Amino acid sequence: MEVIINKSRLELLEGDITKQDTEAVVNAANSRLAGGGGVDGAIHRAGGPQIMEECRKIGGCPTGEARITTGGKLKARYVIHAVGPIYRDGRHGEPELLLGAYKYSLKLASENKIKSVAFPSISTGAYGYPVEDAANIAISTAVDYLKSHTEIEIVCFVLFNTDTYKAYERALSSIINVQ
Ligand code: ADP
Repeated sequence: MEVIINKSRLELLEGDITKQDTEAVVNAANSRLAGGGGVDGAIHRAGGPQIMEECRKIGGCPTGEARITTGGKLKARYVIHAVGPIYRDGRHGEPELLLGAYKYSLKLASENKIKSVAFPSISTGAYGYPVEDAANIAISTAVDYLKSHTEIEIVCFVLFNTDTYKAYERALSSIINVQ
């Protein structure tokens, strides 16, 4: 599925983010930028040790923010390491922190003149965020940002399985329908 927001394209696709040829891919990182399982492990495996070297120098990243490194051996030139919240019950600032992780990543993309960026579904794996709620936050944050930032031409959500893809599709459809 894809829609045009202002001058940019917002796309949803099912697939593996390490294979994307956008200028930047976003990693669902942890606050120590220490690597781990899920999409984080896949990005470091595919991108090689250079990414971890840079992460070590940066040292860490607060939840709700993001940091940028090279893409190493990935097709993408940059990796934006975004730290989403660990979900408890939704009443510990999780929505704001998840929104922050997306928004911070988009700001870093703008600042680094990155024209295309691919996101995974941050926090909905090991961090346990309910996917329906997370999809609404992810999509609304991207749509809002693109309305006022034409410098990013393509934002793509790369969803790893069909259920996640469908949740993002519902979120995008409902936002487009109310506009
Ligand atoms: P978090 O710790 O933020 O929850 P995870 O990596 O555990 O991060 O999961 C986030 C999402 O990324 C999940 O939907 C998971 O299925 C997905 N995912 C795992 N590997 C990949 C990959 N290679 N490309 C895209 N998405 C992936």
